[in-house]
Amino acid sequence: MKKVGFFQTIHLKFVLIFILLILVSMEIIGVYFVKKLEEKLQQNFVSSIKARENSLEYSIKEVMKSSDMNDEDTENNIQNILSSNKSTDIEEIRLIDSNGAILGTSDSSNQGIIGQKITNKNVETAIYVGKEWNRRFIKSGQRIWVFLKPLQVANSETVFIYIVGKVESVYKEINEINKIFTKGTGIAMVLTAILGIVLAQTITRPISDMRRQALAMAKGNFSRKVKVYGNDEIGQLAYSFNHMTKKLQEAQATTEGERRKLSSILSHMTDGVIATDRKGKIILINEPAEEMLDVSRETVLSLEITSLLNIENLVFEDLLKEQDPIILDFSTKEEPYILRASFSVIQSETGFVSGLITVLHDITEQEKIDMERREFVSNVSHELRTPLTTMRSYLEALAEGAWEDKEIAPRFLTVTQNETERMIRLVNDLLKLSKMDSRDYQLNKEWVNIVEYFHHVIDRFEMAKDQNVTFKRKLPTSALFIEVDLDKLTQVLDNIISNALKYSPDGGQITFRIRIQEEMVELSISDQGMGIPKDNLKKIFERFYRVDKARTRKMGGSGLGLAIAKEMVEAHGGNIWARSEEGKGTTIYITLPYDRPQEDEWS
Ligand code: ATP
Ligand code: MG
Repeated sequence: MKKVGFFQTIHLKFVLIFILLILVSMEIIGVYFVKKLEEKLQQNFVSSIKARENSLEYSIKEVMKSSDMNDEDTENNIQNILSSNKSTDIEEIRLIDSNGAILGTSDSSNQGIIGQKITNKNVETAIYVGKEWNRRFIKSGQRIWVFLKPLQVANSETVFIYIVGKVESVYKEINEINKIFTKGTGIAMVLTAILGIVLAQTITRPISDMRRQALAMAKGNFSRKVKVYGNDEIGQLAYSFNHMTKKLQEAQATTEGERRKLSSILSHMTDGVIATDRKGKIILINEPAEEMLDVSRETVLSLEITSLLNIENLVFEDLLKEQDPIILDFSTKEEPYILRASFSVIQSETGFVSGLITVLHDITEQEKIDMERREFVSNVSHELRTPLTTMRSYLEALAEGAWEDKEIAPRFLTVTQNETERMIRLVNDLLKLSKMDSRDYQLNKEWVNIVEYFHHVIDRFEMAKDQNVTFKRKLPTSALFIEVDLDKLTQVLDNIISNALKYSPDGGQITFRIRIQEEMVELSISDQGMGIPKDNLKKIFERFYRVDKARTRKMGGSGLGLAIAKEMVEAHGGNIWARSEEGKGTTIYITLPYDRPQEDEWS
């Protein structure tokens, strides 16, 4: 936040206001007071002069009543009167006759002017008018006040008392008072300024405190408290501020808690969640959604939801109306990947759309299972239909008269019999698989010497085989005991060996091996047949999978044998896989758990 400039501080404003108040009041008081004082002093001055005039009037009348005016004694007397009446506030006293001639002066150094006429035009006019008169003048920088008073003396002659008063001292006094006043005002202003600073501080300190607190709060620090200095309005404000801080902190904690809860729910969900604003721009995406779409939060925020979900054929408004989930197929050639996106609109209280929540659910597995199930049903129906149509055509032929043919009839009946058996075999295989699927079976395990048992199985095939194939056994000589369900293991080995025989060329060789590994016994059966293409090596363990459908069906295979074998081996806790080189041969490996006998068990 911007710092408050010095010229904008309350401090300065306070001080200025105080000073101005003092200045204005002092000024008003000063002007009024000085004016009044001046009037008063002038009044006093005038009345003191008037009093002097009166006493002079009396003395002069006395002198001039008894004698002639031009008498030497009289002149001296007048001179004495004038001189004796002179005082500090009087500069000069003159006596002037009605023609303007000076009869006497108090100024002893200027006796020469006696008998001369006065020169001042104003005084001349006043004498001519013959009335009492006074006037202020400035004479060589000094203020003087001239008074003129007519006197009626003997012979009804008029003389004038002319007094020059030194009014300058009055103004000097006023000036002195003005100076004192100005000094006082200055001192008052300084004191007021100091007082203003102190006073302003008591107001601004809590306010600055609150300002600092508000700044700290904006940064998320709620631990500070404003000091309450008093119980006045500012104190109350500070108190309310502290209360507000507490409430804010609580509210913040609640919001933060809710936010954490929500974000933890969102990130611990298995479904992906994406929220957008009302324009369809992404504002939130949780971790599962990031993983599902293989994007990072930073790159998708404020992106359009339609472009993120790769549904640019739709606009955001379409998604708002979308009631049903949309299936998003991100499958590649190698891997299926399907998501289901469900949408729900966030509406404000007024009914306006304020956003959209998209929930993503990975349905790849479900889709895979669905697909496998559909494929399985279609495979089963296909496998059953083939023998049934064969049988129908043979039976039709028989019904149409072939039964009478002694040569054809038995052949046709054999075919139908074989097809029936094939069907029974198929249904049995399916039943086995369904049993394994429903886990509705139990392994009847027993301890067997796997070497001896393997010899026994191979013997059985060697005796029964009608192909020109030699069997080679690379089996350990010592006994090897493992715990297996013999019945199930027989089915597994029967299928693998019959496959090896089926695909072995004339004069080929089948090799049987047993090897002991860490905690497993590995059985392998290798042939020298046509082999299996690399891409199909894993698929041969899938249900109904055959590398070359047309050829293998002729050999009577339905493609379930290895699928059943895989289920059974895995039920034992073992593993089954194939290695093959096209044109050179195939090896099928089986591992079964083996508890190696401990040394001390023998000792
Ligand atoms: P079933 O065993 O149900 O009678 P099948 O033998 O055709 O029928 P599987 O045993 O499951 O079915 O074998 C699946 C497919 O794997 C076979 O159809 C065949 O294409 C291929 N296969 C299995 N063993 C070999 C082998 N030793 N050499 C070449 N291909 C093989
Ligand atoms: Mg088979």
